[in-house]
Amino acid sequence: MIDKQFDKETFKKSVKDNVKFLYRRKLEEATQEQLFQAVSYTVKDVIIDNWLDTQNAYEAQDPKIVYYMSMEFLMGRALGNNLLNLGAYGEVKEALEELGIDINALEDQEPDPALGNGGLGRLAACFLDSLATLGYSAYGCGIRYRYGMFKQEIRDGYQVEVPDAWLEEGYPFELRRPEYAKEVHFGGYVRVEYDQATGQNKFIHEGYQAVKAIPYDMPIVGYENNVVNTLRIWDAAAIEEFGFDSFDKGDYKKAVEQENLAKDIVNVLYPNDNKMSGKELRLKQQYFFVSASIQAAIEKYKKTHDDIKKLHEKVVFQMNDTHPTMAVAELMRILMDQEGLGWDDAWAVTTKCVAYTNHTIMAEALEKWPIELFSRLLPRVYQIIEEINRRFIIEVQNRYPGNYEKIKKMAIIYDGQVKMAHLAIVAGFSVNGVARLHTEILKNQELKDFYEMMPEKFNNKTNGITQRRFLLHGNQNLAAWITDHIGPDWITDLSQISKLKVYADDEKALQEFMNIKFQNKQRLAKYILEHNGVEVDPHSIFDVQVKRLHEYKRQLLNILHVIYLYNQIKLHPEMEFYPRTFIFGAKASAAYERAKKIIKLINCVADVVNNDSSINGKIKVVFIENYRVSNAEMIFAAADVSEQISTASKEASGTGNMKFMLNGAPTLGTMDGANVEIVEEVGQENAFIFGMSADQIINYENHGGYDPDFIYNTDAEIRQVLMQLINGTFSSDTELFRDIYDSLLNTKNCSRADQYFILGDFRSYAEAQKRVEAAYKDEKKWAKMALLNTACSGKFSSDRTIQEYVDDIWHLDKVTVTKSSEAAEK
Ligand SMILES: *Cc1c(COP(=O)(O)O)cnc(C)c1O
Repeated sequence: MIDKQFDKETFKKSVKDNVKFLYRRKLEEATQEQLFQAVSYTVKDVIIDNWLDTQNAYEAQDPKIVYYMSMEFLMGRALGNNLLNLGAYGEVKEALEELGIDINALEDQEPDPALGNGGLGRLAACFLDSLATLGYSAYGCGIRYRYGMFKQEIRDGYQVEVPDAWLEEGYPFELRRPEYAKEVHFGGYVRVEYDQATGQNKFIHEGYQAVKAIPYDMPIVGYENNVVNTLRIWDAAAIEEFGFDSFDKGDYKKAVEQENLAKDIVNVLYPNDNKMSGKELRLKQQYFFVSASIQAAIEKYKKTHDDIKKLHEKVVFQMNDTHPTMAVAELMRILMDQEGLGWDDAWAVTTKCVAYTNHTIMAEALEKWPIELFSRLLPRVYQIIEEINRRFIIEVQNRYPGNYEKIKKMAIIYDGQVKMAHLAIVAGFSVNGVARLHTEILKNQELKDFYEMMPEKFNNKTNGITQRRFLLHGNQNLAAWITDHIGPDWITDLSQISKLKVYADDEKALQEFMNIKFQNKQRLAKYILEHNGVEVDPHSIFDVQVKRLHEYKRQLLNILHVIYLYNQIKLHPEMEFYPRTFIFGAKASAAYERAKKIIKLINCVADVVNNDSSINGKIKVVFIENYRVSNAEMIFAAADVSEQISTASKEASGTGNMKFMLNGAPTLGTMDGANVEIVEEVGQENAFIFGMSADQIINYENHGGYDPDFIYNTDAEIRQVLMQLINGTFSSDTELFRDIYDSLLNTKNCSRADQYFILGDFRSYAEAQKRVEAAYKDEKKWAKMALLNTACSGKFSSDRTIQEYVDDIWHLDKVTVTKSSEAAEK
């Protein structure tokens, strides 16, 4: 199969031809960028054959389809991943070598598609990979942001946001599909007309602004199974080409308005993670892609089915967080206003088609939209939500007669706002959390009222990650070593990786395992030297915290502890200390001032510590610029320690924690999110757990917080660290970090002193770090611990997660795709 697809000579000829046709150049004259494009087009040719075969198989077998609706898809680079999943990486690497091309350099030409913020978007990408690999029919539905999130540059230690023009050179792995364009309507008003024939009211939306949604399809290649699914992301355009025509008719202003609206909608991804920003444009984006996606799904369904009341037998919409919750009302609108169903029939279908995944319990992340904004922008959709709310309140009243407190807490519309989570729960047939602890907190705290009223909806789906990208591609040496020892089954069945456990006491195997880690550390050290100009020792402990910058993730705890260690070494130069490299990578939301200050602090500490010759290079601090999937793959492979130190109860799951584990890095973490399940799999003795529990934190919060000042006043070493924030140790501007200092204590400028319990957990963290050092010094013990982390990571494959979604929520049919003779002949 693979030999036929990638006959080396045919492949080489195709690359040469592409360089010629695309650039009018000979291979030797082509730039790296041109080579990347030429090779990608050759690979895309092969993918297209499989894509067509998949479509034919789906048409023949008519499986149920899941539409995974998400504002974000953090895909990472496509070229290398596609080659691996096609089973052609090795052959192509050789063919390229024969042409004098280095595949790694070529892969480095590809920009990361800038379509996501962090964990939520990466989860969506892992899910698409698993869905294709398991042979389920699935569409990703999202937005084709022109500039995605910003590119992060670090200048003078500060984050600077630069536009990320990822589409500038043309993205080879997308296909424009104008024939599937849809119209989306904003604004206007709703006119009611009585229909004599049916005896029902008709709702007519008029005076709106229209935008054209044009889909771009990206292929999602399953692992060596011929399946190619689709990520469909929508671009926006004005309905009428802006031209002399409308100018003459005096519609100039309107034409410009439509043009601008379209441009604005797909311009940028809001750079927020776990935060709601309440921007009107964001609401437009949500409706834009939800409406276009649902229209497309219904159109597709109707091509081969005639009973719209059976839509749920073939279609399910999974809402990734509340961002696509408008799907509920939009589906109701289409079923009633276009398909002619009455309310009850439309509701029966809708509530069997939509399911909701909750990603957070953080109050500031829960989406609420002002009624004024919502009803003005989406008058018909708002009307429908009002009616859903009216009927739901009656249900609550029947269930809890006279209990107005319940209505206040559970209403979808209350206090001038539309609460999207409530709408998602009321209409969804499934509500899932993303790790066991998180789901329990939802059931017992945040969504307790809803759980009591509709317990059957609630379920847990612990997140996962794809081992194809984060081990097979990102850590190729380790992947090869694992396959040598236990065979290749782990690639599509990660539970098999437990077979590595038999090597836990095999000295040769442990040595090889750690040698590979060392090579990966050398690779990262080289990257750091090139990008940061800092020399780090690959023999030191690589202690890594990479994730979005947020106070609840507590990068501040990490860097304050670095300061503490620095003080210790200065005070006791002779003390035993195993050299450590603290590696950070994090983007902060552009508007999140304190988060950006923490980045500056990390870089200021790095400047002082890295250049203090008196500590003999025992500590190095490195901030890796522009953390994203492509450099993440390399970082996980090189990590010794995985910092997962969120305030307990705040991190719903985390997935970075799983990527580190898979790559043999023990967790230094709190009992939060999926850390709990990681420890359960690998054993307490193979992780470094510290800090207050979720119960303790929640208990403090329910009783007015705790008192960090007591710790400050009684612990001189912690007090010294805090004083150094404002006494010129790390910046001559003593006011620079005043806000951070104030946030940790009961000062007049701080309403919730140390709300993330940094001082409360500090000693426990420092003590856990001591255990890390002691364990690392014992080489054999550490190697065993690292290997066992890899060997016990089987549960955390997104293949397992997706199979659970399929079994419990989606009920999809498995499809097999065989290559058509036409493609096989090539
Ligand atoms: C996995 C991943 C994340 C999520 O990391 P957490 O530690 O779970 O917050 C964010 N960004 C990138 C690039 C990732 O690969």
